[in-house]
Amino acid sequence: MNNIAEIKKLTLAYDGSTVIRDLSFDIKKGEILLITGENGSGKSTLIKALLGLIKPVSGKVSFTCNVKGGIGYLPQTSQNEKSFPATVREVVYSGFVGNLRHGMFLPKDAEGIYRRALELTGISSVEKRCFSELSGGQQQRVLLSRALCASRHALILDEPTNGLDPESASHMYSIITSLKHHEGLTVVMVSHDLETSVSLADRVLHLCCDGAFCCRAEEYFERVRAVHRENRGGTAHECNCGLPHEHHTDTERQEN
Ligand code: ADP
Repeated sequence: MNNIAEIKKLTLAYDGSTVIRDLSFDIKKGEILLITGENGSGKSTLIKALLGLIKPVSGKVSFTCNVKGGIGYLPQTSQNEKSFPATVREVVYSGFVGNLRHGMFLPKDAEGIYRRALELTGISSVEKRCFSELSGGQQQRVLLSRALCASRHALILDEPTNGLDPESASHMYSIITSLKHHEGLTVVMVSHDLETSVSLADRVLHLCCDGAFCCRAEEYFERVRAVHRENRGGTAHECNCGLPHEHHTDTERQEN
């Protein structure tokens, strides 16, 4: 796989307080890269840096393929934002805003991209409805369609199943997987829903005060167990990493 981005020795901070130190990893074309880690470990901060919204203290984020203006972003959304008074069409079309030709004109094939985005996310039947009247699952799929209008290459999804019921979350995950397999999209995704998201990811970037690491998804749970063993004396009860209990070692369970 080619890389679409290389992140080298990245250090990020707010007002002199370091959140991420010397982090290096790459993003491979066509993969699902899951970003996990305990609350406050810097996942959202890292996403802001990938989107160019904050400047690194040191180090570099470089995109190696042409994704200029071309990363679709699905932010974490609050309930207030979900009561936004706009139609589905208006919300999805707003995805083109970062890619206007000469800063003014929609892409020539905008309507085709829009239709395809609705098809891929299965929301064509609600396109005339008001965004605020839709279910949580439909709203997330509208926001995913908007991200698809912003990019046909790469998506960054911040907690895409947050607040969804299990059925809607599972639907969302199957769409994300299909975008990778059938559309060749690269997906960078933050999630706390480790059981499911690790199973559909290719690689996992784990941010942690004990040290960040990036590994293949099938190695992830063993790597986290190793971090616990090395740094926390084998105890998991004080850990906020989000690792499901059954993935803690037998020793850890006995000690708890
Ligand atoms: P995560 O997404 O993993 O929960 P964040 O990236 O949101 O973590 O936050 C990492 C740290 O940076 C936290 O300690 C948080 O309080 C701090 N932080 C986040 N945003 C800001 C900000 N705008 N100004 C100052 N500190 C911030």
